[in-house]
Amino acid sequence: MSEPLLFEMGSPGRRGFSLPVCDVPDKPLEKMVPPATLRTAPANLPELSELDVIRHYIHLSVQNHHVDKGFYPLGSCTMKYNPKINEAMARIPGFAQLHPMQKSGTVQGALKLMAELSCYLGRIAGLDAVTLQPAAGAHGEMTGIKLMRAFHESKGNPRKTIILPDSAHGTNPASATISGYETIQIRSSENGLVDLDDLKKNMNTDVAGFMLTNPNTLGLFESQVLQIADIVHEAGALLYMDGANLNALLGIVRPGDTGFDIVHFNLHKTFSSPHGGGGPGSGPVGVKDFLKPFLPSPILDVCDSDRFDFQWQPGQSIGKLQTFWGNFGIMIRAYVYIRMLGASGLKEVSRNAILNANYLMRKLQGRFLLPHTQHHMHEFVLSGDLQKESGVKTLDMAKRLLDFGIHAPTVYFPLIVHEAMMIEPTETESQESLDHFADIMLQIADEAEKNPGLLKEAPCSTPVSRLDEVQAARVLDVNYYNK
Ligand SMILES: *Cc1c(COP(=O)(O)O)cnc(C)c1O
Repeated sequence: MSEPLLFEMGSPGRRGFSLPVCDVPDKPLEKMVPPATLRTAPANLPELSELDVIRHYIHLSVQNHHVDKGFYPLGSCTMKYNPKINEAMARIPGFAQLHPMQKSGTVQGALKLMAELSCYLGRIAGLDAVTLQPAAGAHGEMTGIKLMRAFHESKGNPRKTIILPDSAHGTNPASATISGYETIQIRSSENGLVDLDDLKKNMNTDVAGFMLTNPNTLGLFESQVLQIADIVHEAGALLYMDGANLNALLGIVRPGDTGFDIVHFNLHKTFSSPHGGGGPGSGPVGVKDFLKPFLPSPILDVCDSDRFDFQWQPGQSIGKLQTFWGNFGIMIRAYVYIRMLGASGLKEVSRNAILNANYLMRKLQGRFLLPHTQHHMHEFVLSGDLQKESGVKTLDMAKRLLDFGIHAPTVYFPLIVHEAMMIEPTETESQESLDHFADIMLQIADEAEKNPGLLKEAPCSTPVSRLDEVQAARVLDVNYYNK
């Protein structure tokens, strides 16, 4: 039996609040609100006690999967555990109740936090200046490409194209296109890395930049990155890193040292802000010194000062990207995360993320096709091609995982692996939870051979069974109807 929904519960006159009698002088509503917009009959709202409401929301909170409820190995999206101290700090009234238009003298603590966070990110990535304005990873990419354009324009020619590998995240070509560039896609070689010959063949003085993800979306470190940087720079182009997932690099490799000129970060992935469900996020962008004049205005880049203020830099800046200063609540969470771990803790994060991914990969590779067998970084990509022989698709296995209280990995991405399952366990999982996941995956491999029909029906034990995804995308209707 399904549980009653909020609108079906309650009883007339039931209350969940008590307010003192209103002492604001009575003024007829019609004087305050245009009469045409006034209701003629009371809204049909449920009348509930506090307990009813609490139970309703607690119930909703366990209907869906989330990282506080179970394992969430969603490759590329880094669903790590988000320490609750981050939340506590973001809720401190001195932070939470700030208004973005307050005078800088009254928000020195907030500005100091932002300035220090920029500096930490710069140090982590080996870059000279960081803007915190972009609201998400894709917004950071767009910012990065606009910086490239501004740089090339300052040399007299904005150039025409951006090169990307075929393993790139979909937002990369989208960001290049929306910023007015044509994109050229180059092949990955057999071993899953950038094909240097293909890169050289496509590199010329029309190319504004090369967008690379390192480790790439197969979870492999682009070991030829120094040569790649030389090829790109010799043509006068810039090297951009999609740094949405820095989980493998913290304290180990600084992208700036390997030749990247521009890097975006996803604070809501690597730096532990809850995400999914549409945000809010934060996608800061770091650059080398020579690109600093082009950064979005205003900037705040003092690491050590007594007095903090935004600096407006009209000249060559690409302008402002936000109504205000960026998603401050996410910055607080990232700041607390970095401060709680410190330099050595951040390095430990990456070492454990890499260890966990490789441990799991070796446990699964006997039963699932592993297209690239070398050691990986913080994630790896399996192919469902072996199971496809019994008619079972990766989608079916992903749905079956839900029956065991585990979120599916990222599926069908990267596009260069058939029936891809992209698994990122993250550093926050214990060996026991990795073993548990491996046992379930092996059981699913057995089921694929012996009982493929079961997988086609999965999930069977979730509040909603398998959705018709095409229908859901075409006729999305999330209204509640009181039958
Ligand atoms: C998540 C992700 C992005 C985009 O980040 P959003 O915050 O979702 O816009 C870009 N590149 C990679 C590799 C990602 O994993």
